[in-house]
Amino acid sequence: MNLNTSGTDIESVVVTQDQIQARLAELAVQVEKDYAGRDLLLIGVLKGAVMTMADFSRSLQRHVEMDWMAVSSYGSGTKSSGVVRILKDLDRDITGREVVIVEDIVDTGLTLAWLKSNLESRGAKSVEILTLLRKPDAAKVSVDVKYVGFDIPTEFVVGYGLDFNEKYRNLDFIGVLAKHMYS
Ligand code: 5GP
Repeated sequence: MNLNTSGTDIESVVVTQDQIQARLAELAVQVEKDYAGRDLLLIGVLKGAVMTMADFSRSLQRHVEMDWMAVSSYGSGTKSSGVVRILKDLDRDITGREVVIVEDIVDTGLTLAWLKSNLESRGAKSVEILTLLRKPDAAKVSVDVKYVGFDIPTEFVVGYGLDFNEKYRNLDFIGVLAKHMYS
C-alpha cells in the first residue's frame, strides 16, 4: 500500500521504499562478502521482519536458509520491557549454524539481546544481527548489531512490517504515526 500521507494517520515519511531497497541491496553485498564460502541461516523475527526478510533475502546472490521465530516482548502500548516470551520457535536445530537474525527495528535492544543469547545458548556457531532500523536508545544496551539499515530518531514508526495494533504493516515505506493515534 502506498498511501498519500496527507489526510492519513501518518505524520511524516522517515524512509522511502526506494531508500529501503537501495540500502538492503548494499547490506546484501556486505553479507555476501562476510559469509563467502560459509553456510548461512537467516532467522526472521515475526511479524515485523517479514518485509525486510523478503526483500533482503532476494537481494542476496547466494543460497541461504530461512527460519522464523515469533516472540512477544511484554510491555504496554508502544514501550518494550525486555521480558520475552517465545510464541513460535524455530523449526530446526541450529547447533553449529552461522546465523544472522533479521529484525525490523532495535529500540531499547532488550528483545534482541535476549534473542541473541538464546540462540547462542542453543549452540549456534555464530549469531549476528541485521536490522532495518535502529533508534538511539539501542546504544545503551550492549547488543552488537552488525548490519544496520538506517538510524532513525526516537519516534514511533510504522510501515514495511511495523504495526500499530496490527495495522500499517503493508505500507511500503516507514512513517511516523501521528501522536493523536496513541496518546
Ligand atoms: P526493543 O526490545 O529493542 O525495545 O523493541 C523491539 C521491538 O519493539 C521491535 O521488534 C518492535 O516490535 C517494537 N518496536 C520498537 N520500536 C517500535 C516502533 O517505533 N514502531 C513499532 N511499530 N514497533 C516498535
